[in-house]
Amino acid sequence: MEDQFRTEIGDLGEFGLIDHLTKNNETVQAGTILSVGDDAAVIDQFGRQLVVSSDMLIEGVHFDLMYTPLKHLGYKAVAVNLSDICAMFATPTHITVNIGISNRFSVEALSEFYDGVYAACAKYNVDLVGGDTSTSLKGFIISITAIGEVVPGKFVTRSGAQENDLICVSGDLGGAYLGLQLLEREKKIYMEHQGVQPDLQNQGYLLGKILKPEPRVDIVEWLQDNNITPTAMIDISDGLSSELLHICNKSEVGCILYEAKIPVSEEAKLLGMQFNIPTVTCALSGGEDYELLFTIKQEDYEKVARNSNITVIGYITPIEQGANMLTPSGKIHKLIAQGWNAFG
Ligand SMILES: [Mg+2]
Repeated sequence: MEDQFRTEIGDLGEFGLIDHLTKNNETVQAGTILSVGDDAAVIDQFGRQLVVSSDMLIEGVHFDLMYTPLKHLGYKAVAVNLSDICAMFATPTHITVNIGISNRFSVEALSEFYDGVYAACAKYNVDLVGGDTSTSLKGFIISITAIGEVVPGKFVTRSGAQENDLICVSGDLGGAYLGLQLLEREKKIYMEHQGVQPDLQNQGYLLGKILKPEPRVDIVEWLQDNNITPTAMIDISDGLSSELLHICNKSEVGCILYEAKIPVSEEAKLLGMQFNIPTVTCALSGGEDYELLFTIKQEDYEKVARNSNITVIGYITPIEQGANMLTPSGKIHKLIAQGWNAFG
């Protein structure tokens, strides 16, 4: 594929490359006053508060191009940043995308990456309003800044959880970690026996979880539409236990997490059995699920119970009781952070 149509980045030059990558860039946000093409973008927030979050992804540390299609990578790079905006109970509106690339990448390869970026922008009504491209000596580096808006004072932090609040999570957990194990297994087989086709049959759901996560903009909208304001919120990038501990630490509270209530998919259960990893371990320590973890007042329970995409998994206790998990057999375990660690 690479030899068929390969345009060297050097043939276009930096400005030519930027023109090429942004020629189909359309903006949809009313607040976008000035987009790509000047020294900076101009955004009107219409009296709303601005929420800003940045994230960096480095080849070999955060992603492996051997099994990550560039289009998926572009989509995911945007999605994980929008997830942080959602975790503030805000609505994502704009992004800037900075990349560092070596001459290993062709213009066509970069276009594929940007196809994914634009696909995520289109899906979530987000405008790409700026960015920079630079030369990297080795590997691919992506840095995205996401901007969102929120009604003044209505943002939700990690620090507002109070005793007796209910702990909720969106979607299901552990799937991304199992999807990654599957990709790593097939990569290993491929490296050892060149030419063996990967066996990824019927694993679309879990591969989607790791390769194409979706920010839970829908959950934020649903909560807002139903007049439920979480008392604390975080997105799950590192695994349920470490994210819940972040909420407990910042809010200065303890918690009881019911192991049996942690939502896991049937697909994850089946693959977990194959790999001999309990799905609960994947949910607690796996990471990259990009679901929302939040706490609500008890009075909002009836409303939340009606949404099948939200599961109540525990409640907040006084700080003296610590952060604990109750197993199905009635044992209490201290919750420990074993989140995924890029430096590990
Ligand atoms: Mg986050």
